[in-house]
Amino acid sequence: MGSVVVNQLTKNFSGTDVLKNIELDIQEGEFFALLGPSGCGKTTTMRCIAGFETPTSGEIKIGDKVVNDISPHRRNCGMVFQSYALFPHMNVFDNIAYSLNIKHLRDSNMVKKIGVYIRMLNSKIIKYPKDIEEKVNSILEYVELKDHAKKLTGELSGGQQQRVALARALVMEPQVLLMDEPLSNLDQKLRHSMRNTIRRIQQELKITTIFVTHDQEEAMSMADRVAVMNNGEILQIGTPTDLYSNPKTPFIADFVGTSNILPGKVTKQENNLTYVQVGNYDIQSTMDTEKEDVQIVIRPENLIVKGKDESTIDNYFEGKVEVATYLGSTVRYDIRVGEHNLLVDTIFESGDKIFEKDSEIKVVVDPERVLLL
Ligand code: ATP
Repeated sequence: MGSVVVNQLTKNFSGTDVLKNIELDIQEGEFFALLGPSGCGKTTTMRCIAGFETPTSGEIKIGDKVVNDISPHRRNCGMVFQSYALFPHMNVFDNIAYSLNIKHLRDSNMVKKIGVYIRMLNSKIIKYPKDIEEKVNSILEYVELKDHAKKLTGELSGGQQQRVALARALVMEPQVLLMDEPLSNLDQKLRHSMRNTIRRIQQELKITTIFVTHDQEEAMSMADRVAVMNNGEILQIGTPTDLYSNPKTPFIADFVGTSNILPGKVTKQENNLTYVQVGNYDIQSTMDTEKEDVQIVIRPENLIVKGKDESTIDNYFEGKVEVATYLGSTVRYDIRVGEHNLLVDTIFESGDKIFEKDSEIKVVVDPERVLLL
């Protein structure tokens, strides 16, 4: 197994820096996600690690080896892509056994036999060495495809095809597994179950995994740590809970989960509280800041809705309900406050009041839940 360290990686395409000073330190056995909007440089970072792209500058280490000058197939990385890239004329077993058999023939210096092997694949009469048979069968069990071994890949569902692609990468026992948007082609329900499958296998094999996605829910639910990228830069690296509770910038707060982000001006700081003028309201936060102009960031679940005439402590906005959506165990409110809208998620228990559209209400927040960025 291998750690992956990336030092000061840059990549320039036709005069444009698409990667700027990328620094990563991924631990052995870690599930690490690169998360960011389309075009931010996630795939290019991964392709540099795999060796398909040459860095403009910087160093990449896998395990204790600098791999900059090592060709892709010697880096010992397994790759899984969004398009499964399976061989359509081969059955599931042959797809998975393919690279293993080529490696076996190459290692045993039977280069001429590679051509014979490929011809045999086409005529579908292949006798694999026993250890290859065993490896493929055991990986087929891992990805729960044993019963589909003899099917052509075109006869499988999208989720099954993705599991073949995963098995094909894993059977080579790579040091590092690289996955580029592997679930994007699957429908919502399959995506959820594949997330669990990938995470289970990754944890069982303890394989260092780098997973590229633009889907924050995917990254947050699967990864041990996430790097949030934008415009070729890494903005923040942290565990999902770190990133959710302590985003460093409004962009991250907005990208990682849903946030209410409102501009404000700091008016005073006393008794461990920072007072911020937000429109007509004075909002307090326990967070310290040296800035005068700030963005206040509040997660929807940290706001409480009360009737206009209910007594409350300080720290509230007044507003009008624009939409109240009952979602079973929660109610989501969209509330107009001056020129802004606030999203509020409240837990709903039977007997609780739902404030209907146009209700005049107060939206209360605990100062500890107000971030100043
Ligand atoms: P997506 O989620 O859409 O795949 P991404 O975050 O993976 O996006 P990259 O594919 O790494 O982003 O692309 C980063 C930038 O580099 C983009 O602006 C892209 O147009 C540019 N780029 C990528 N590959 C090349 C190339 N071979 N030649 C020129 N520009 C490229």
